[in-house]
Amino acid sequence: MFGPVLLAASRSDAIRRAVSSAPVTRSVVDRFIAGERLDDALTAVRALTGRGLTVTLDHLGEDVTDPTRAVRARDACLALAEALRAEGLGARAEISVKLSAFGQALPGGHDIALRNAGAVVEAAAEAGTTVTLDMEDHTTADSTLAVLTELRRRFPATGAVLQSCLFRTEEDARALAGPGSRVRLVKGAYREPAAVAHQDRHRVDRAYVRCLRILMAGRGYPMAATHDPRLVAVAQELARRHGRKKDEYEFQMLYGIRENEQLRLAGLGHRMRIYVPYGSDWYGYFMRRLAERPANLAFFLRSLATR
Ligand code: FAD
Repeated sequence: MFGPVLLAASRSDAIRRAVSSAPVTRSVVDRFIAGERLDDALTAVRALTGRGLTVTLDHLGEDVTDPTRAVRARDACLALAEALRAEGLGARAEISVKLSAFGQALPGGHDIALRNAGAVVEAAAEAGTTVTLDMEDHTTADSTLAVLTELRRRFPATGAVLQSCLFRTEEDARALAGPGSRVRLVKGAYREPAAVAHQDRHRVDRAYVRCLRILMAGRGYPMAATHDPRLVAVAQELARRHGRKKDEYEFQMLYGIRENEQLRLAGLGHRMRIYVPYGSDWYGYFMRRLAERPANLAFFLRSLATR
């Protein structure tokens, strides 16, 4: 019931200012975010990789409407790639980027985002790792997938994200199930209109299974990103049915969510990658995590009330 309201709030500047300056106890935000600085993120990476997990790092930021902020977002990702190279972490840590942080919504934004993402993908390759393009709301999907196609010409391991909530996704999954393709499948974290997306969560789950079937039957590298125990079990069964070895697909979960399950799956020999967000622009990401689970909202409100 609160989900749609929180998702609408995640895009409101006025609410962003109010929540960001509210006396939120750090512990509420810290549950989902590794910290504000690159050093905080690297500390989290060392702890997670030390426990047999791999990571994808997200320097938080999105919906940039000012070209200088797009350049700053790119530079933060370049600094991240350089740190991964210097620390020799490329084999266990990759980078996730949001093209809206790289200027996708600016006039001529498609080309600006492509240039900025290209620089990051190149720096990541020098660090021995890859980049995955996060997927944002449906209005950006065509541009994001076109940027992916461009980037994959030189860097074929660049990854995409597909959202099972969107009607278009089965077709996108078919198009991206070929050799060398890396696809993270998620349910979708944005509020989408009924004209383009399933509104009922059971339909989203069923669509997730259909898309996962396509990816697991294909020749690419499926990345099943979900905390949903039923879908984790479906992914294990589909991988088995298609004769995929444990290094031919992976699971992904978010930092701070179902940590015991993350370790359990890694302990069974599965590849488990944790999405580690860091940076000061945590508002949009944090609100989407609240929207996903009413218990998170209650926890957040209690933390405000007890101050
Ligand atoms: P749900 O049905 O939402 O959750 C299943 C169970 O997981 C819940 O019952 C609960 O136990 C636990 N859980 C789920 N969410 C939370 C939470 N916030 N707090 C506490 N427990 C929780 N979405 C995009 O639109 N674009 C992206 O690029 C994108 N990248 C992602 C990358 C990764 C690695 C992951 C794991 C998710 C990503 N998402 C992305 C978010 C995704 O779309 C979903 O919104 C999110 O994963 C919740 O869906 P679920 O599959 O976990 O299932």
